[in-house]
Amino acid sequence: MTTASHQMCVRHAKSIYNARVKGTVPRIAREAVGNAIKYGKLVREPCEECGKVETVEAHHDDYEKPLDVRWLCKHHHNLHHWAVKKARQAATTESSEVRLKSTPSS
Ligand SMILES: [Zn+2]
Ligand SMILES: [Zn+2]
Repeated sequence: MTTASHQMCVRHAKSIYNARVKGTVPRIAREAVGNAIKYGKLVREPCEECGKVETVEAHHDDYEKPLDVRWLCKHHHNLHHWAVKKARQAATTESSEVRLKSTPSS
């Protein structure tokens, strides 16, 4: 099960995980978006999933590219992060299962 989309999910999960560990990276990215909107460098767009214009938030696929954002409403943003979290959990479960199997039980 190594489809391209699966690999992308895991990489996405990893980049968010790393950013969380580093802590300050998401804050810097959000501040960069806020400033870019203020100075007209970035324009808030409707949710790319449902077209909603209220409660639209900037989502970063890669915090190292602070102005490379996707616009998602609060609902779809939460949904997206839930999916990423699930992918990360699945990846973690897979690797811990492998570890358990390779450990002698007796
Ligand atoms: Zn939406
Ligand atoms: Zn996001």
